[in-house]
Amino acid sequence: MCLFCDIIEGKIPSTKVYENEYVYSFDDINPVAPVHTLVVPKKHFDDIRDMASSEEGALYMGEVIKGISEVAKIKGLDTGFRVINNCGEDGGQTVMHVHYHVIGGLKLTEKMI
Ligand code: AMP
Ligand code: ZN
Repeated sequence: MCLFCDIIEGKIPSTKVYENEYVYSFDDINPVAPVHTLVVPKKHFDDIRDMASSEEGALYMGEVIKGISEVAKIKGLDTGFRVINNCGEDGGQTVMHVHYHVIGGLKLTEKMI
């Protein structure tokens, strides 16, 4: 069982922002900024290392980037935003279905840590 697979399949409700054949995007349940939206591939990959290990993963990665760009347009993030991917335990990943955080709607600082 994977939480984000269940969200993609509609078994668990989410606030959809964007969807196409390859990606699903929804608002984070615990936002850290005025805009905090997640973009996930519709096919399950554990993390970016898993995605990088196949041609199909590379295809999905390209689609994820397009999805991020669409989300930024939909959310009106014309002056910029931040994209974050937490990878693995030490990277702070808590849901093991690769996902990208699109964060914006405020002036972000240049430094993250
Ligand atoms: P990460 O820590 O990078 O794995 O991010 C997981 C993100 O998923 C966190 O920001 C959570 O707030 C978010 N999240 C967990 N459950 C849900 C849910 N049911 N709907 C939307 N976002 C969720
Ligand atoms: Zn999954």
